[in-house]
Amino acid sequence: MNVHETEKLYALFEFSGISQADGAEDADIIIFNTCCVREGAETRVIGNLGIIKKLKEKKPSLIVAVCGCMTQQQAVAEKLHKRCPFINIITGTYKLSRLPEMVKRIESGEKYIFDLELDLTVPCGINVAKRSDNVNNFVNIMYGCNNFCTYCIVPYVKGRERSRRKGDIIEEVRQLINGGCKEITLLGQNVNSYNDGDNDFYTLLNEISDIEGDFWIKFMTSHPKDLSDKVIDLIAEKDRLAHYIHLPLQSGSDRILALMNRKYDIAAYMKKIDRIKKKMPDAGLTSDIIVGFPTETEEDYLLTEKAVRQVQYNNLFTFIYSKRSGTPAAIMEGQVPEETKKERIARLISVQAEIANKKAAECIGKTYKVLCDSRDGKTLTGKTSDDRVIVFESEDKDLYNKFVNVKVTNVKNSKLYGKAVK
Ligand code: SAH
Ligand code: SF4
Repeated sequence: MNVHETEKLYALFEFSGISQADGAEDADIIIFNTCCVREGAETRVIGNLGIIKKLKEKKPSLIVAVCGCMTQQQAVAEKLHKRCPFINIITGTYKLSRLPEMVKRIESGEKYIFDLELDLTVPCGINVAKRSDNVNNFVNIMYGCNNFCTYCIVPYVKGRERSRRKGDIIEEVRQLINGGCKEITLLGQNVNSYNDGDNDFYTLLNEISDIEGDFWIKFMTSHPKDLSDKVIDLIAEKDRLAHYIHLPLQSGSDRILALMNRKYDIAAYMKKIDRIKKKMPDAGLTSDIIVGFPTETEEDYLLTEKAVRQVQYNNLFTFIYSKRSGTPAAIMEGQVPEETKKERIARLISVQAEIANKKAAECIGKTYKVLCDSRDGKTLTGKTSDDRVIVFESEDKDLYNKFVNVKVTNVKNSKLYGKAVK
């Protein structure tokens, strides 16, 4: 999401005649587009600002702006201003499109801008973005989140769900495809609850998959409570919908899921997984897991391991629970000690590594449709419909942004290696 927000910022700045610098040393304007989903991301921003402070001492005309989720939190933004008074612009998630204008105001002599005002309007028309390549193209379909999972800061900093108009999204996708894009990832915190007032996610996906052209569509993120059977069946049915579903489980314990306010239990989650596997035996499944949520016991953790073994994900994004100020979980009794969290995540990572290795070995001898993403033609890499990375050999090196059939010849740990075939 943030990568794409930054692509949109680049485009907006180019419209104002400001181009991308080669690096921080060359830049006249430095913008931090922050994330606050976990503490680590915030700590990194503070560390990097320390480096920028030195640059600003050498070049006082340097304009420094901090925007995004982290500074949408009023208290954090105020603290940041006190701690780093050299920052010229502090804004949040709602006014990103106004940044070029704010920069102009600073250039005209204003010393400091602090603007955390909410703006919940959904931009109409096509989102302009400076996308870095033809292979990974993000398209927002909605903003914000209504779910209030008790650990998560997102609804507080991104506001309630707002969906873009279906017609705008279709037009943006169509333009990308006409421009040669082969893979488009639809973005939203909870894509399955997309609704522009007249159309739901099924309708949107169905229409996108009927656009003429040689491409595939991926999307993220699906909330298990909202992923409908109808959408699963559509993915199975339509050639242009990639067989990849990222379905965050978060925990394998019903007790923890209820405390997280996830609004599904393991039985309901597994029912969805069973339907996906039945309709698409080749589907790639990935998930997010949080370990060490308040009150998580060894038994709860073992239920997570059990669920992970049952689903057999291709890949898992594992997180240590991070206390986010202002969320209900941050003040829950029974916070889990750091050492226990670290020990549990290490065990979970090794369980998943074993699964991923086994699943990779099962690919040997099979042929996959792969979208090549290497420009240099030296080491050829690409991704499959089920979102696995594959390294392959081919006599034809000019394969960037082309679909190729690749036969898997060997695997190293969970990594796939293969050869292009006719
Ligand atoms: N809307 C998406 C993604 C939200 S953020 C979804 O619901 O799946 C991406 C992931 O970060 C979440 O799935 C969750 O696993 C993790 N995450 C969010 N808040 C967290 C926290 N406080 N501590 C640790 N991980 C967290
Ligand atoms: Fe956060 Fe839950 Fe919304 Fe995802 S669905 S963004 S985890 S509140």
